[in-house]
Amino acid sequence: MSYLREYERFRRSGDLTGVRGEVLRPGMLGYDQARRLYNGMIDRRPAVIVRCAGPVDVVRCVDYARENQVQISVRAGGHGVAGNALNDGGIVADLTPMRYVRIDPGRSRAVVGGGARWIDLDPVAQEYGLATTGGRVSSTGIAGFTLGGGAGWLMSRFGLACDNLRSCEIVTADGDLTVVSDDDEPDLMWALRGGGGNFGAVTSLEFDLHPVVDTLSGLLQWPRSMAPEVLRAFRDLALDAPDELGLVFACITDRSGRPGVTVTVCWTGDIDEGERILAPLRSLGPPVVDDVRKMRYEHVQTMLDYTGVWGSRNYWKSGYIPELSEAAMDTILSNTDRMPSPLSAIHLWTHHGAANRVPEGATAFPNRSYPFNLHIIGAWTDPQSDAEGIAWSRRFYEEMHPYFSDRSYVNFDDLKEQSRVESAYGDNYRRLVEVKTRYDPDNMFRSNQNIRPGRAAIPDVLSMR
Ligand SMILES: Cc1cc2nc3c(=O)[nH]c(=O)nc-3n(C[C@H](O)[C@H](O)[C@H](O)COP(=O)(O)OP(=O)(O)OC[C@H]3O[C@@H](n4cnc5c(N)ncnc54)[C@H](O)[C@@H]3O)c2cc1C
Repeated sequence: MSYLREYERFRRSGDLTGVRGEVLRPGMLGYDQARRLYNGMIDRRPAVIVRCAGPVDVVRCVDYARENQVQISVRAGGHGVAGNALNDGGIVADLTPMRYVRIDPGRSRAVVGGGARWIDLDPVAQEYGLATTGGRVSSTGIAGFTLGGGAGWLMSRFGLACDNLRSCEIVTADGDLTVVSDDDEPDLMWALRGGGGNFGAVTSLEFDLHPVVDTLSGLLQWPRSMAPEVLRAFRDLALDAPDELGLVFACITDRSGRPGVTVTVCWTGDIDEGERILAPLRSLGPPVVDDVRKMRYEHVQTMLDYTGVWGSRNYWKSGYIPELSEAAMDTILSNTDRMPSPLSAIHLWTHHGAANRVPEGATAFPNRSYPFNLHIIGAWTDPQSDAEGIAWSRRFYEEMHPYFSDRSYVNFDDLKEQSRVESAYGDNYRRLVEVKTRYDPDNMFRSNQNIRPGRAAIPDVLSMR
């Protein structure tokens, strides 16, 4: 349902007159601040950044881009390491002022603004004893995270963030402000569940919420020398993990500079049962850190915040691992001692339970059958370390190639080659192209892991196929 179509006075102005939010151009106070992203390696200079005060400002940005034929980028939390939230010489619809949160406890639903972050939603939903699957670092933008899929602690119990997405308000390439759901524009709704920022600027998102408050959560850390035993114990636990258990294996350098190996957990079932399930990990030998304890979910959502350093320089790679063989584990382990900097890390996330029970074609996000996702995090602060950090991530990724599936997770990668975007979506790519061609035939929204529109005429009712 488009409810702005008739208000032509808001539309097709081709300039930014009447925008309520700040309009920032190079040289203006606030411009440099507004073009900073999580990844400090990104140094792009848009011609104009509009700090949108509401959906109509977003409409004006889209109209401006279309009428003036300039590139448009959409920015929410600014965490995308590829830096697609900015561009050089175009316009940025910066949604960061749109961080409102509304909870409907009666319907167990939340509505958030297109620029909201997890730190805006989680504590408020917890006031009602409710939660949904969210990012594991609280400053991550809800929109970018969810549109790419959204893997979080609760996904094995309640599905990915995109599985919990009920509706979106979106400004499409023609400047229409529309609410989409499974009933209204179901093809577009399907595409928004994993297809990234390809289909328009999402100005609000509505989620299902679930009752979750007390968890058994925290981190177990051992010396790096124990990485082989810890990785194997993690694999065994992960392959048999109940839906209530979210867990990640990581090789890190801890805050006191010690190289460590960790397993971080979030258990949302009965606490005693959780202690029993975690016993094999604790029996590996005394951890140097064991802070697994009863924890409110909102605190789980900030327990890894210290790992996400805003402004650090980042180069990431990732891949899904269908089978964690001995050879795959050896390759991972051989890279732990080559990590280029203390901020760099290796994360091995489990993918199981509810997230993997959704059929691959049910949402644009297709990766429903792989038990592990390896996330190679090259991160450092000194620009002089760029070459070394990038080389480590790339080499590690190449070495893992024989053990990866051909899929990628768009939220953890920077897929520059078109062939990699296509394989990231597997069989869903074809339908994504159809939806893209229908809603954005000129590829206005291309500052993303881009789904290219096709040239063929598109039937009116895509959802009938
Ligand atoms: C420290 C850290 C921790 C992370 N943890 C996780 C995790 O636990 N699980 C996980 O799955 N991912 C995680 N990520 C990855 C994260 O989900 C992606 O980087 C995501 O793109 C971030 O969204 P954002 O809104 O913050 O980013 P932005 O950089 O603002 O946006 C990224 C892209 O998303 C699109 N986009 C954003 N907002 C909108 C909108 N309103 N409308 C249309 N398109 C939009 C645009 O294409 C934009 O270029 C993490 C990233 C970081 C840096």
